[in-house]
Amino acid sequence: MSSLSPAESTATSVPNAHVLRERFRLPAEFASAPTTIEPGTQPPQGFFTLQSGHIAFGSTTSDTSAVAQHAPSVLPRTIDEPLTYDPDEVVRLLREESYIDNELPDRNGHDAQALVRRAYYFVRPLLSTKVRRIAQRRALAGWRDIAHPMWPVDTTVEAVHREALAASMAAAGVNKAPIVWYWPDGYHGAISMTHDVEEAAGLAFCPEMARLDESFGFKSSFQVVPESRYDIDALVLDEIRSHGCEISLHGLSHDGNLFSSYEEFTKRLPKIQEYARRFGAVGFRSPVMYRNPEWIAELGLSYDMSMPNVGHLDPQHGGCCTVFPYFLGDVVELPTTCTQDYTLFNILNRFDLELWNEQLDIIAAENGLANFIIHPDYVLDGDGLNAYKSLLAELDQRASQNNLWKAPPKELAEWWNLRSNLELKSAGPGTGDWTIVGPGAERASVAWAVLDGDSITIEAPER
Ligand SMILES: [Zn+2]
Repeated sequence: MSSLSPAESTATSVPNAHVLRERFRLPAEFASAPTTIEPGTQPPQGFFTLQSGHIAFGSTTSDTSAVAQHAPSVLPRTIDEPLTYDPDEVVRLLREESYIDNELPDRNGHDAQALVRRAYYFVRPLLSTKVRRIAQRRALAGWRDIAHPMWPVDTTVEAVHREALAASMAAAGVNKAPIVWYWPDGYHGAISMTHDVEEAAGLAFCPEMARLDESFGFKSSFQVVPESRYDIDALVLDEIRSHGCEISLHGLSHDGNLFSSYEEFTKRLPKIQEYARRFGAVGFRSPVMYRNPEWIAELGLSYDMSMPNVGHLDPQHGGCCTVFPYFLGDVVELPTTCTQDYTLFNILNRFDLELWNEQLDIIAAENGLANFIIHPDYVLDGDGLNAYKSLLAELDQRASQNNLWKAPPKELAEWWNLRSNLELKSAGPGTGDWTIVGPGAERASVAWAVLDGDSITIEAPER
């Protein structure tokens, strides 16, 4: 055990302001948490357990062997003790999936993810749906034993943010700190509906789907494939837009090779950007969610949605472990936080809302973003279409009951950019009053982080 008690601690206050300022817009005087990591040193990286029980990854002075053995003996770290890691580093490594080459063995000691990867890499349209399903189910056997990221939604980044916030407030000697609330207009969370258009039949169904979304109050995005798959009729795009929906891009040709090498990626990028201009698109999702977070930062578009929260059932594993937007370079990443329709219908073989509801509950508890992919091609009729209609009704109800923002992806990205420039200003020492300043501040709300003993609560604003 390498935990240090406060007395023998060599804690230094590194300016880990970035992560706290980015997520909470916390005033600088509160945004520095003590850590056992000395400046200029880098302890070995590994998986370790947070106080909340979440499994995190990064350089740490914690015991990492306990996690590898699946004996996450949670070290009794109290608020007054320094963090055993640098939250800036840990959040970055999780969101950029840099833990991926250090996968944990599954609960039976197998490298479950390698098993899945071996069997599963193929371009889907080459096989009939039935053959595909059988191959995928066989390849995915054992996925439930994968310990990290956490199924069905991983919120480790949120746990790191809370732990760092609590530690920094304790260090500053305050039990109440102001933050800029996450969402505009006092909303308590966000829901985004997005559609990847796979084949000509799906494209033909898009206007009908846009009408359906509109009837439930959603302005969704339709990601189209510019080359190879189908002819894109400008009139169809206009019809989609006439329902308030937006057009985004779904790769270039959907051959699965966009991220196969950096050379290939940079060769295709100018074409992607040219199609974006032509279609008035500012957003992107990579086909099959093949991705490389470093290169996504070079997209030159407003937002991307190629990062899953937890990718156990996707061809490319991993996951960004957060239910909030974040930046990859200048690109706002809107992580896909709910299970895809294809996965639910064809791999889990279900058409009910149970899994989606479970995910919505976890995301709502964090006040995060529920971001869905529904493919027009898979909900043309029958069970698929019924499931989709039930989902829209459920989301509509949750949005009004729980005060959630039905957020068009483009507006989400605009808000996240705007919020990243807002600042909290004190009305004067000792007054306890704070206001938000900066362009767009009129849509933002002050909220409060409250430290009570060893637990921290982030109180949503009243509306
Ligand atoms: Zn696709």
